[in-house]
Amino acid sequence: MVIGRSIINFLFPPACPVCGTPVSVHGELCADCWMSINWIDEPKCVRCGYPFVSDYGPDFRMMCPVCASGNCELDWIRSACVYDDASRDVMLPFKHAGRIDYAYFMSRAMIWAMRDIDLSDIDIVMPVPLACRRLFKRTYNQATLLARPIASVLGVKMDLDSVRRKYRDDMGHKNARQRAENIHGVFVVRRPDKIRGKKILLVDDVMTTGATFSELRRELMRAGAIAVCGVSFCRVVRAI
Ligand SMILES: [Zn+2]
Ligand SMILES: [Zn+2]
Repeated sequence: MVIGRSIINFLFPPACPVCGTPVSVHGELCADCWMSINWIDEPKCVRCGYPFVSDYGPDFRMMCPVCASGNCELDWIRSACVYDDASRDVMLPFKHAGRIDYAYFMSRAMIWAMRDIDLSDIDIVMPVPLACRRLFKRTYNQATLLARPIASVLGVKMDLDSVRRKYRDDMGHKNARQRAENIHGVFVVRRPDKIRGKKILLVDDVMTTGATFSELRRELMRAGAIAVCGVSFCRVVRAI
């Protein structure tokens, strides 16, 4: 096994997937690319992971105004980094240009982002489904590539067929209200028997307004899920 790996490393020396600089382990980012990404750390909202700029000390359990007013529907949400120019340089090739090898460091960063949470009660890991038409065009669901290593670390099953997503036009430049309207009714639970009584971790590449997570959570709860939480690689951070 070790000999096999050293032969592979000799033939294909590990390189940073983003810039090509030599690194010590396959799939890992080089130090410069790692530093360029705005990783979300403490302090953050204990519920949705929204990053705060000021720290009130290690014992202060802070909630953002959205969560404090009861408007976060998921049990909790975590994201590895902020959506900005640096993370976009990772996201776009990963999503649209077949750079599926990025999934390795992205999913590891997402597992790290959930380090303050007890994950032992998660029953199912579910990548946010892609509409069939999109899946056919793109050939892969980027969320599934991120969910697979997470499910494997948690030692739970990944659910790929309990929910179907209807095709809708892209949500590209819509505001929060338009996104919520556009996503409404898009998910259909086909296998409530697999959902009933389960705590489900949703996985997506990017969280914009949280409308996708919320809509999917609503359908899953309607189908009998006991709790739904979410993790994304990056999230849009707006002033709140
Ligand atoms: Zn690099
Ligand atoms: Zn929050």
